[in-house]
Amino acid sequence: GNRTFTMIKPDAVEKGHIGGIIEQITASGFRIVAMKMTQMTKTDAEEFYAIHKERPFFGELVEFMTRGPIVAAILEKDNAVDDFRTLIGATNPEDAAEGTIRKKYATSVGENAVHGSDSDENAAIEGAFHFSGREMF
Ligand code: ATP
Repeated sequence: GNRTFTMIKPDAVEKGHIGGIIEQITASGFRIVAMKMTQMTKTDAEEFYAIHKERPFFGELVEFMTRGPIVAAILEKDNAVDDFRTLIGATNPEDAAEGTIRKKYATSVGENAVHGSDSDENAAIEGAFHFSGREMF
């Protein structure tokens, strides 16, 4: 697939890292198909992260993802899902490779600066969750 979905999470927005992160994404060859600043409601976050609802960190994750604005985007590139997950690095910034977005900007395994879809199927579902057809270019 050639598209993925990302969010710049509330921690990175709060710390003023929107510009740095978008610069690294576009410099790495991703084209921005759709992008907006928005804030998820509790209901939105519970639905978006429904797959994690039995995990011990679910409440913390919903609380974190709704505490402030995010930047949501759909990105286009060959091999988008895998290449984007390489660009962002491991979930836990302590394990993230040097130069990755999470190594540079994440604070912890929970507050890890960015989201990246884990499959083509989820990229399509997550993109459609945040954007209508008229918001995609
Ligand atoms: P994402 O789905 O955000 O790209 P990921 O696929 O790297 O992240 P997942 O294991 O799917 O990681 O977890 C989803 C999100 O839940 C993580 O990005 C992180 O914000 C949060 N999370 C994961 N593990 C923990 C944990 N142990 N404690 C707190 N929050 C966590």
